[in-house]
Amino acid sequence: MLALSQRSQDVTPSSTLAITAKINAMIADGIDVVKFGAGEPDFDTPDYIKAAAIAALDAGLTKYTPVPGTPELREAVAAKYKRDNGLDYAPSQVIVSCGAKHTIYNILQAICDPGDEVILAAPYWVSYPEQIKLAGAIPRVIDTTSAQNFCMPPEQIEAAISPKTKAVLINSPSNPTGTTYDVETLKQIADIVVKHQVYLISDEIYEALLYDGATHVSPASFNEETKAITFVVNGVSKAYSMTGWRIGYTAGPEDAIQAMSRIQSHSTSNPTSIAQRAAVAALTQPQDAVEEMRQAFEERRDVICQRFDEIDGVSYVKPQGAFYIFPDFSAHYGRTLDGKKSKGSMDITDYLLNSAGVGVVPGDGFGADNHLRLSFATSLTEIHRGLDRIKAALQ
Ligand code: PMP
Ligand code: GLU
Repeated sequence: MLALSQRSQDVTPSSTLAITAKINAMIADGIDVVKFGAGEPDFDTPDYIKAAAIAALDAGLTKYTPVPGTPELREAVAAKYKRDNGLDYAPSQVIVSCGAKHTIYNILQAICDPGDEVILAAPYWVSYPEQIKLAGAIPRVIDTTSAQNFCMPPEQIEAAISPKTKAVLINSPSNPTGTTYDVETLKQIADIVVKHQVYLISDEIYEALLYDGATHVSPASFNEETKAITFVVNGVSKAYSMTGWRIGYTAGPEDAIQAMSRIQSHSTSNPTSIAQRAAVAALTQPQDAVEEMRQAFEERRDVICQRFDEIDGVSYVKPQGAFYIFPDFSAHYGRTLDGKKSKGSMDITDYLLNSAGVGVVPGDGFGADNHLRLSFATSLTEIHRGLDRIKAALQ
């Protein structure tokens, strides 16, 4: 066997995608598994968006587009930032990529040199540390607790800043915890990045999915100084149930957007032309479908919380957004389940999958082994079925 690159050996595969593939394979084999794995809405993409894609095909929009996205989509994205976030961007300050995952990858490739540091909270979304490492940089992880609502205290961010710091990365609402930063904390974080002149990467992909009447605030909207060094990351996957279409985008400093475009021009080129036209429809048509899905998620959030309240030895922070709950199962670690001593989130995940027919994601990959992540982007029937099984399996 010839040697593979060090980079490829250092990277861990995405646990969210791996567990989702495993659950789906079991279901394909006829095994009854309740799915709480994939972080994707269970709804179909709204019809008006699909119609726009079909019309794009019929109109022959099947060729390369400009690398950073079609002019109409970059304009639609700029208009979205204005409408939803009060942010003024020229289309030239926007780049569209193949999903927000690709957007963040390109940002890190564009701003990080080997040895640079990026500050982020644990629990984190599985791809952040790996993407930071793939850019040659070092994740500087700040561990957070449920008592902190899983948010980094600004003073700890400031204390973690070194001459090597390139960026602070925040994700509100958060995957995997569903928690959000309050505006005061965001303002303090904005002041810190401005004071130390490091980039702020603000992953706002769950912006549209907020509960209890909460509204989203983008830190870039505080002042021009913050906006000048912030990447406001978003995409159509979650809000419009378009995970498979692979459209993500960001606005940010124009020189960085151009750098990302140069990098993208040698990897994926443009995102799919047809999906770009569909994303224009998603962003510019009336947003009723988004609100309908949000309401359904809020109801499911309430039900899954109630059901967890019935289970001994499991505690959780009530999710304020996104469609994840991240309960602490560590009170069950050390138990012998199905003849095997369960030592951590991997073991409990295996036990629930193989013995109870419930697919969850271990907290390990999110930097929080005491927890399991459940996506409640599934029907109320499935939530009840799954929670019945978890309750029985742990009794
Ligand atoms: N950021 C977070 C926090 C996510 O959970 C996801 C979902 N995978 C993404 C970014 C990327 O989403 P996508 O690539 O589908 O746009
Ligand atoms: N973001 C989703 C999740 O966390 C989709 C899978 C992925 O891209 O990681 O499950």
